[in-house]
Amino acid sequence: MAELKRLSESRDLTRIERIGAHSHIRGLGLDSSLEARDSSEGMVGQLPARRAAGLILQLIRQGKIAGRAVLLAGQPGTGKTALAMGIAKSLGAETPFASVAASELFSLDLSKTEALTQAFRRSIGVRIKEEVEIIEGEVVEISIDRPVSAAAAGGSSAPSGVTAAGKTGRLTLKTTDMETVYELGGKMIEALGKEKVQSGDVVALDKASGKVTKLGRSIGRSRDYDAVGPHTKFVKCPEGELQKRKEVVHCVTLHEIDVINSRTQGFLALFTGDTGEIRAEVREQIDTKVAEWREEGKAEIVPGVLFIDEVHMLDIECFSFLNRALENDMAPILVIATNRGITSIRGTNYRSPHGIPPDFLDRLLIITTQAYAEDDIRKILDIRCDEEDVEMSADAKVLLTKIGVETSLRYAIHLITSAALACQKRKGKIVEMEDISRVYQLFLDVKRSTQYLMEYQSQYMF
Ligand code: ATP
Repeated sequence: MAELKRLSESRDLTRIERIGAHSHIRGLGLDSSLEARDSSEGMVGQLPARRAAGLILQLIRQGKIAGRAVLLAGQPGTGKTALAMGIAKSLGAETPFASVAASELFSLDLSKTEALTQAFRRSIGVRIKEEVEIIEGEVVEISIDRPVSAAAAGGSSAPSGVTAAGKTGRLTLKTTDMETVYELGGKMIEALGKEKVQSGDVVALDKASGKVTKLGRSIGRSRDYDAVGPHTKFVKCPEGELQKRKEVVHCVTLHEIDVINSRTQGFLALFTGDTGEIRAEVREQIDTKVAEWREEGKAEIVPGVLFIDEVHMLDIECFSFLNRALENDMAPILVIATNRGITSIRGTNYRSPHGIPPDFLDRLLIITTQAYAEDDIRKILDIRCDEEDVEMSADAKVLLTKIGVETSLRYAIHLITSAALACQKRKGKIVEMEDISRVYQLFLDVKRSTQYLMEYQSQYMF
């Protein structure tokens, strides 16, 4: 558990992330009857697909998605990843979202099934409730046995907490049951210092860390903490509040638990991503432990969303893995995506829709995405400018939208960042048309790049 605590701290750190391509997506942008709003929660247009995703959301919430997966089929840059992320966000802030491109599974370091297993376990959250030992008590008496001057109080033997009143020393906290008397050492006095605990306060004391949390005040005579006096009337703090403070909740993924418990890797591997193969015994032990915690009511499984892009790149073995994995009671919501039509199933001579074997196709709820109209592109670019804190003139936006229509939405989104840099370089504050044209000339879109290659192919090696 100590490790898990450390882990939750490290997760907070990793959450300070740079602005990602989908950082503006905060949900599916649906109203209470699951109709898609034109532009909401960072989502724009693509109404039928968002409506369908809303129904999927309902199936998930009603626990009716088991054994099935969602296929998003559509042109590149039509928001397939954005939709998958929107589903995860709508399921709650703690819902893990893992995304992997099928081609990444074919690496030299890991077997396909290990890479898939890791992807699955990255998208299964475990909410662990930890009981922190907190003792409720009222400060009924505080005695200061070594009063010292404020000047001397700065030294290491004189913790800061009590120096505000010009006194320091050992505090004695008597809790309400009158049997427990806590002698508060230096560390405790510091904690008390921040809370300004006075006699008559109702406090919770975490025995493990020595931290004192003030919960409220009792009714009755109260005294300043440097006043040594008889205790006042005791009033219990509201039950609910105390309960809340008793429970510490961590949310981690199964993969994170695997990594920190895998002796060969250690938890630092979470930062480098270089987790290597994780032994099957480690996972078995963790599954057993998590099952125990679930039974004892200490943990809950939070199924997340696993998004596998370019799914036509998967082979038969991967599909049979997915078939099996969907049957597991801890399975995440599987959302796969492709921009291919009828194509061969990898490693075989068979052709099928999206390169997906028929038995797996049978499990899928298929949603198609459509190319964006100019108005949607303009709105998405607007949202991205806000997200990236880029101020852009109206003319420049018109030009960028035109580029988006002619090339692709993703290319236009990329130009925002580079145009902002070009603007910074000329010491401008607002991105103007000249910045957009400059970066448009510097970076080729797919169409121009292909054209260029066709013109100059004789200069390239074959
Ligand atoms: P590919 O097939 O190439 O993987 P994709 O269909 O997954 O592409 P995305 O990556 O989701 O497309 O979209 C490209 C960019 O446009 C992303 O930054 C995404 O967040 C944004 N985007 C796409 N659709 C929408 C939308 N409807 N609302 C807001 N942003 C969107």
